[in-house]
Amino acid sequence: MPQCNIDDCTTPAAHRRTVCHKHRTRLNRYGDPDFTQWTTADDMDVQLLIEQQRVPDGATRLERRLIAVGLSDRGMSAERVAEVVAVAPRTVHRWRAKTRQTAA
Ligand SMILES: [Zn+2]
Repeated sequence: MPQCNIDDCTTPAAHRRTVCHKHRTRLNRYGDPDFTQWTTADDMDVQLLIEQQRVPDGATRLERRLIAVGLSDRGMSAERVAEVVAVAPRTVHRWRAKTRQTAA
């Protein structure tokens, strides 16, 4: 399977594309494959990654948080979520608490 064309990206390219889903979305939306900031999350990617229970290296902080909350909603323990998302379990607990407050 061909890899994404963007430097340092080890994600396989999307079907019949030269870049991966994440970079394609960034290119389409921002014209910049490296565009990444706390407030940016690709909704489609997030749902997919929750299903696959994985987080790509290039994920933004917000994407990690959304995936963490999504996995929590599916009943995954905070410790396991922390492993998948590669943050401290405390961080997962904090994100969960914040999300509950916002939802209430
Ligand atoms: Zn890529």
